[in-house]
Amino acid sequence: MKVEVISGIVLGLFVFLVYLGYDITPLVVLLILAAIFYFMLQKKGLVKTESFQEVQSIRDFNFENIGGQEVAKQELKEALKFLIKSEEITLRGIRPLKGILLTGPPGTGKTLLAKAAANYSDAVYLFTSGSEFIEMYAGVGAQRVRKIFQSAREKAKKSNKNRAIIFIDEIDILGAQRGSHSSHMEYDQTLNQFLVEMDGLNAHEEINILVIGATNRPDLLDSALLRPGRFDRQVRVDVPTLEGRLEILKLHINNKKIASGVNLEDIAKETYGFSGAHLENVTNEAAILALRDNCPEINQYHLKEAIDKVMLGEKLNGKANSKVLNRVAIHEAGHALISELVKPNSVSQVTVTSRGNALGYVRQSQEEDQKLYTEAELRNQIKVCLAGAAAENMYLGDKSTGAGNDFQQAIKIVKTIINTGLSSLGVISVEDISPEQINTVIKEIIREEEIVVENLLRENLNLLTEIVNILKKEEKISGDVIRKIINQRAA
Ligand code: ATP
Repeated sequence: MKVEVISGIVLGLFVFLVYLGYDITPLVVLLILAAIFYFMLQKKGLVKTESFQEVQSIRDFNFENIGGQEVAKQELKEALKFLIKSEEITLRGIRPLKGILLTGPPGTGKTLLAKAAANYSDAVYLFTSGSEFIEMYAGVGAQRVRKIFQSAREKAKKSNKNRAIIFIDEIDILGAQRGSHSSHMEYDQTLNQFLVEMDGLNAHEEINILVIGATNRPDLLDSALLRPGRFDRQVRVDVPTLEGRLEILKLHINNKKIASGVNLEDIAKETYGFSGAHLENVTNEAAILALRDNCPEINQYHLKEAIDKVMLGEKLNGKANSKVLNRVAIHEAGHALISELVKPNSVSQVTVTSRGNALGYVRQSQEEDQKLYTEAELRNQIKVCLAGAAAENMYLGDKSTGAGNDFQQAIKIVKTIINTGLSSLGVISVEDISPEQINTVIKEIIREEEIVVENLLRENLNLLTEIVNILKKEEKISGDVIRKIINQRAA
């Protein structure tokens, strides 16, 4: 609108000057040069027309389109009542809710929740990111903050609505602790302006504005942002549980053709720790693999292969030489056998095909999302970590660098044992324990578990050899086949 008004005034002025008999050629040239300069700055991102976008496509997006995250959805819906029933809230003398902070790992659905929240509360929805407010020129960020709040009010009025939601992704960039940036004057000014705008929101306004911020790093935020009256509510959006994973898989497989025998529950079990974005990627990769195979429908093996691809990357070209393949097969068979012996049904698949940085790997399946572990369970995990190198040593007489990560993982678990008071040191204050003492306990526990693993492998050498042979021949073996081999021997 402003541009049209200015253009009109300039054109009128030119016509008037021509009418008075002035030569306006230098003025026109100057204007053209100024326009070129402005467009160049704009192209380089130094001048931005808008630092946010109004998202219109929220109409059909509901909380039902988001898998799992039941607690986050419930908390968010409850908080949205403040916006929907603002009059009742004011009558009851309740302070309006101005901000909700969604925190959690990347790809867990924070943006989706904000979008669904806008539709649920029938609000105008403006989307932006913390980085949009960061400029090297002083005052620009603050100006953009003012603009987005002003636009939210204008756009709501235009759409005949009395609510607006401003969603700020990566709010930690805008709201980091003041004084923490090198060019802190500009950053601080932007954050101060943001705080002023939030303080200015009140229930008596014609348009009610709710700010939803999202971040993976709430620890970086300035405490002023988190104080009551600003981001009052923090909603945790974590990686999905088993049921959540199943729901998300169902949502994303819905628009694809799948074979009748596909068991998504199995896939959900095997994707422990995956975010919603990872799961979406699994269904997408499975569809691509089916296309590659010229298969009209996605089969279970496409989904399983897609999990490996999302977890470790694309298969590498070419096969490892036989010496390396032999060592990798022994290593992975060691992990898998010990895993099944100490925790039956824990192995889903073992592969010796190189993917990404891995020469081979054991994919474990998790029945349920476990939050508590006993000392015995942690020690069993250590055994599984140590089993690869132990198997190499038993067969080939030496170990390799392939076990580096396994040892690091084992040490991490031992440290958990120490920190939670489950080691021989008892309940301790970790800061008051010397590194030597910790090292002694690490060595002690690792050695104890190594001895158990060596004995188990020796006692089950035939089983191990059988698994190694299948792996060398077929490059992979499923958990079911390993269990069959173990059960046959036991019978
Ligand atoms: P970031 O912190 O990186 O910004 P985010 O938490 O905002 O990530 P989204 O952008 O909401 O994550 O999700 C990314 C994509 O992952 C979505 O477009 C969707 O395909 C998928 N996704 C994530 N979580 C879910 C979920 N709970 N249900 C369905 N799909 C999901």
